[in-house]
Amino acid sequence: MLLCYIEGMNSARQTKQRNTIIKEVVSAEGPLSIAEIHERASAKVPRLGIATVYRTIKALKEQGRVAVVELPGEEPRYEPVGRGHHHHFRCRSCDQTFDLEVCPVGVPQGTMLPGGYTVEDHSLTLYGQCSTCLA
Ligand SMILES: [Zn+2]
Ligand SMILES: [Zn+2]
Repeated sequence: MLLCYIEGMNSARQTKQRNTIIKEVVSAEGPLSIAEIHERASAKVPRLGIATVYRTIKALKEQGRVAVVELPGEEPRYEPVGRGHHHHFRCRSCDQTFDLEVCPVGVPQGTMLPGGYTVEDHSLTLYGQCSTCLA
């Protein structure tokens, strides 16, 4: 779905850069910052400029294919649209952010809270140590 044409980027090299950037975002373990995308993609596409990463992500965002993930005090991160309901886990040791497969919130949609508040949704980020850092 993400692998489609972006206007204004059409040379073979640009196509390769763009596809590599998209692949990194889609296959990542969680949302990535521009710097993280650049670091990973430039290992595969030599001489990839960070401006190209910015431009590509901006275009994908405008097309509604990539969503911004904002954690307090952090630079914006990006993830593919359409992942469905999920939460993020932020490792305080390695500074990586991971997608969680479980929802740890036991307050279903429609729950009526004291005071008459009806729950429609929730958002939550967990912080701690990832398995690599804990090992
Ligand atoms: Zn970690
Ligand atoms: Zn949840």
